[in-house]
Amino acid sequence: MTLRIGCIADDFTGGTDVAAAFRRAGLRTALVFGTPDDASALPADCDAAVVALKSRSTPAGEAVADSLAAQRWLWSKGATQVYFKYCSTFDSTAQGNIGPVTDALMDAAGAVVTLHCPASPPNGRTVYQGHLFVHDQLLSDSPLRHHPLNPMTDSALVRLLSAQTRHQVALIDWATVRRGAEAVRDAVLVHQRAGVRHVIADALTDDDLAVLGAAALELPVVAGAAGLAEGLGHAHPAAGPAATEPPPREGRAAVLAGSCSARTLEQIAQFYAAGLPSRHLDVLAAAGGRDVTGEALAWYDQQDPDRPVLIHASASPEELAAVQAQLGVAEAAAQVEGLLGTLASHLVERGVRRLLVAGGETSGAVTTALGVRAVLVGEETDPGVPWTYASTEHGDLALMLKSGNFGAPDLFTRALPTTTREAG
Ligand code: ADP
Repeated sequence: MTLRIGCIADDFTGGTDVAAAFRRAGLRTALVFGTPDDASALPADCDAAVVALKSRSTPAGEAVADSLAAQRWLWSKGATQVYFKYCSTFDSTAQGNIGPVTDALMDAAGAVVTLHCPASPPNGRTVYQGHLFVHDQLLSDSPLRHHPLNPMTDSALVRLLSAQTRHQVALIDWATVRRGAEAVRDAVLVHQRAGVRHVIADALTDDDLAVLGAAALELPVVAGAAGLAEGLGHAHPAAGPAATEPPPREGRAAVLAGSCSARTLEQIAQFYAAGLPSRHLDVLAAAGGRDVTGEALAWYDQQDPDRPVLIHASASPEELAAVQAQLGVAEAAAQVEGLLGTLASHLVERGVRRLLVAGGETSGAVTTALGVRAVLVGEETDPGVPWTYASTEHGDLALMLKSGNFGAPDLFTRALPTTTREAG
């Protein structure tokens, strides 16, 4: 059993993000959707396993119960350390769930102290003097202050976390982090002796996060965003050399898009502009009983097998608003997820072996429809957007699950190049 790090991510795309971070650190990494009840769900010989939950905005009691179940499962697979991955903008409410979940994981592990750092320098998230910055702005001055679910109006992490735990919270400043892992370990010990349970550390760069990862190597529970996960991954020696498998090139290729995020709409426009076969799903017609799936499959069957196809529900803000006004937001989402999930199953049955899915909720619908509970994480095509590998009842499948705003505008055509056949 080689599993070293078990990770619990508080949302689906956060799971992909942190799994890609462990993979960058050279660890063979599995990503599991929801806590499996089945002992065989983990691909063999993994150094790291990430369980992706939907616990960011659920009631704290539910988030705690789900996270504890994930921790027990990860321990049962041999994990000696559990990393709790939350958002790099500390996305949470005054009640949680970051504090309650971390406390529960620590209690279960018998841990007396933990290290936190939400910094993610490549995304402009840094922590200085305990204040979280988004690029050149304090979190509380950034657009996150207007977040629809959890508006972040404070940037002081010690204060934010103190509101979510009855335990003491303290800071290790950047000057200490710059002195290296031993200095950080000493500082953690000093805080621990003073009764502190949650230690937040400053970090401005990936080097700082590598220092924190080395300092946190022996802690049973560590918490933060993907940056500290990568630092921790570098501190854990991998069982073997990092795999360098090439991106998948074999088999029919398709994109299924349900995201209406600006970046996904750009990626769709670029696919159309490249003259590749594309089809828009009529959500209102489907809700009215038309066989939109059957029509899309008949269309798919006429396409050149060497060229990737795109099928999307994704729509402009105006069209989206019109559909939602007519069906209601929940019914519109259920229609879209039903259509794309069903199409995914049929496409794989028809021989699609490279499937790119755009949208967080959409990715959940597609993996559920395909019965995919776990994937092995491969190389990233764009930051936070790795190829992953799964087995389905119809054979092996390369899956790219991308959050709406991720990836460059030409991601679809770059990830799924048209196959060139030798003449004759
Ligand atoms: P993102 O990662 O960009 O947030 P998601 O897949 O999580 O993407 O969410 C996109 C949402 O938009 C889904 O709930 C989906 O059902 C909805 N949606 C997509 N296309 C349409 C459409 N044509 N009409 C109505 N709702 C749509």
